[in-house]
Amino acid sequence: KAAACRGSWSSDSSDSAGTWEPLYRVVLLGDPGVGKTSLVNLFAGVQERDLLEQRGEDTYERTLSVDGEDTTLLVMDTWESEKRGEESRLGSRCLQVGNAYVIVYSVTDRGSFESASELRIQLRRCRQAENIPIILVGNKTDLVRCREVSVEEGRACAVVFDCKFIETSAALQHNVAELFEGVVRQIRLRRPGGTG
Ligand code: GDP
Repeated sequence: KAAACRGSWSSDSSDSAGTWEPLYRVVLLGDPGVGKTSLVNLFAGVQERDLLEQRGEDTYERTLSVDGEDTTLLVMDTWESEKRGEESRLGSRCLQVGNAYVIVYSVTDRGSFESASELRIQLRRCRQAENIPIILVGNKTDLVRCREVSVEEGRACAVVFDCKFIETSAALQHNVAELFEGVVRQIRLRRPGGTG
């Protein structure tokens, strides 16, 4: 698939020296409507997304500078379409290809929080032997009066499932940069001989 092709449409592929830069696949999981597309939109930058949407891609590549080092993330927002398509064969592909996972629920929707736990279990079953980074994300914190899942519950769930936790608001752009920086740091912690 073209989108998976490193640098094929990256806006900053001017690096003709071809210096090697690690590229990591980050897969977003979660119920419909929790804000996955909104989060990935902010990650990609709206203008870039407009451009990419014309190509019908749900995959966004961006190089982030975190702690003085560049890392390229390929963020895949393909979970729902792949899950729907040709039964779960493609859906489970999502569970196979990620180097890191972002499991999103909405703090205003308890059902989506329960789905997040199920996804975590599914993921663990699929990738048993691997220590892949997983970040649990409670989105829509701006909707204070509609909140159904407390920050304590989210945090406790992350402890039980041995993953990182952050609450975000895509609407207010709160903690979204921190989320993706956190993904980068979690990936780096696990690389061979890796430092934090
Ligand atoms: P997806 O189905 O998981 O990709 O969710 P979308 O990104 O399409 O978002 C679903 C709806 O929730 C849209 O109407 C978004 O505008 C809205 N939404 C997403 N994130 C937030 C948020 O942080 N706060 C609020 N208030 N609405 C949000």
